[in-house]
Amino acid sequence: AELFGPSRRNSAGVELGDAQSLAALLAEIHAAAAKPVPEAVPLIDGKPGTGTTRDVLSPIDGKPVGRVTEGDAASAEKAMAAAKAGFHAWNATPARNRAASLRQAADLMETRRGPILALLQSEAGKTLDDAIAELREAVDFLRYYAAEAEGRFAVPTALPGPTGEDNRLILRGRGPFVCIAPWNFPLAIFTGQVAAALVAGNSVVAKPAPQTPLIAALAVRLLHEAGIPKTALHFAPGDGKLGAALVAHKDVAGVAFTGSTATARAINRALAAKDGPIVPLIAETGGLNAMIVDATALAEQVADDVVLSAFRSAGQRCSALRLLVVQEDVADKMVEMIEGAASELTLGDPRAIETHVGPVIDQAAKERLDAHIAAMRAAGRVTYAGKTPSLPGTFVAPHIIRLDKVADLTAEHFGPILHVVRWKAGQLDKVLAEIEATGYGLTFGLHSRIEATVERVVDRLSTGNIYVNRNMIGAVVGAQPFGGHGLSGTGPKAGGPNYLPRFATEQTVTINT
Ligand code: NAD
Repeated sequence: AELFGPSRRNSAGVELGDAQSLAALLAEIHAAAAKPVPEAVPLIDGKPGTGTTRDVLSPIDGKPVGRVTEGDAASAEKAMAAAKAGFHAWNATPARNRAASLRQAADLMETRRGPILALLQSEAGKTLDDAIAELREAVDFLRYYAAEAEGRFAVPTALPGPTGEDNRLILRGRGPFVCIAPWNFPLAIFTGQVAAALVAGNSVVAKPAPQTPLIAALAVRLLHEAGIPKTALHFAPGDGKLGAALVAHKDVAGVAFTGSTATARAINRALAAKDGPIVPLIAETGGLNAMIVDATALAEQVADDVVLSAFRSAGQRCSALRLLVVQEDVADKMVEMIEGAASELTLGDPRAIETHVGPVIDQAAKERLDAHIAAMRAAGRVTYAGKTPSLPGTFVAPHIIRLDKVADLTAEHFGPILHVVRWKAGQLDKVLAEIEATGYGLTFGLHSRIEATVERVVDRLSTGNIYVNRNMIGAVVGAQPFGGHGLSGTGPKAGGPNYLPRFATEQTVTINT
């Protein structure tokens, strides 16, 4: 218990069922939404860097939310040089002080919730539920990594042993870390990566996804305000080319990346091709997440959990359910109930409190998803199509697609599209082997009331996060460490006890006493 620190707690969130607290929250969001959003600019030692300025467009209506200046090669070079120069002083700052800044940032995020939630909605298209959950996760990461750093970095671990000497294990920062974030958790993942790297003693160059630089810029301002030195945390908004330039820089000491498997491979190759030190990569990537349902499952609960896991958040969670593998005997009934539950979803402007499903992130994402749906429709495989609202935003309605076998799903379709495969009683092992054979291992769901089946599945699969008789999303920091392996990433798990050491160097000091 000491490891996690006596003061750690998860963020309390907001009671949306309580009319008064909901009204207060909405008032804060509306007040913030009425104000102009500060521009996101490269920040090098806290000073603006050079680049090209453009509008950031909202997925809700295609209108500008704010402006971003995206760094050029010169700005990337300057950010890395500044991170190198800022490393030693920050690494020498006691871990307790570094942790204190993270805690301060967590408190600031909770008190400044209005502007944060407003931006999560306008820039990332999040529903109120999703925006609140994301803010809580960011706060949880900050407090969790603060507590972890106090437990592991503040004092050396004494290692008494047979040598009779004074042996100590010391964890320190590695150097300038490059943190590269995706757009789908533009606050929580961005903050989690940066907080972990910083509290471990690294200086950081943080690159947000090009779709969501404004919320990241807000997080950086809060971290600076909370006491993270501007010489330790530098901000580099820009696209994949800028990310590639940062990764290829000679002074990079480590890379934390969350995004697609293809980009993780590109980064891995770039790091391997460089001269100089061997640079560790922490990659958290995609999934072909399956859920197995057998004939003993409770149909109503399956329907609710499937709709939540596959369609809410517009299917734009890395943990989202992509492939439902349902026992043939109950498949018709289950799918009918899922379709019924899906048809109850309200699609539309995510700022409206009654909306369940908002837009997908941008036009390119919509086109990719629409193309997959069109191909499946041409093949006669679409069994359910929700109604797309006639609104200006980039909306994709929930769809259900029937496939013949697990192997027919060959790519992660990052939106509200559920694929369904049927299995016959007696073929559970075959199905499990097919799921393992996809090579992904992020999340997995099981609905079964048979204890032996639960044990068999848990023993057989090595998937990172397994959820039994519940939905498959919303891992809670500290309680449900999150992340996969294989094509889904390198580990270690975010929000878990093994995360921070991967950002550190380990030093053993032996003193002859
Ligand atoms: P993406 O790979 O397109 O982009 C992620 C980030 O990498 C962006 O900041 C992008 O600009 C940058 N980038 C692109 N090319 C680069 C390069 N060559 N070098 C360096 N950086 C580069 O992913 P996305 O579309 O932003 O995010 C969605 C993906 O993220 C999905 O596959 C999803 O499953 C995955 N994801 C995984 C987790 C997890 O915890 N495992 C969490 C969230 C999202």
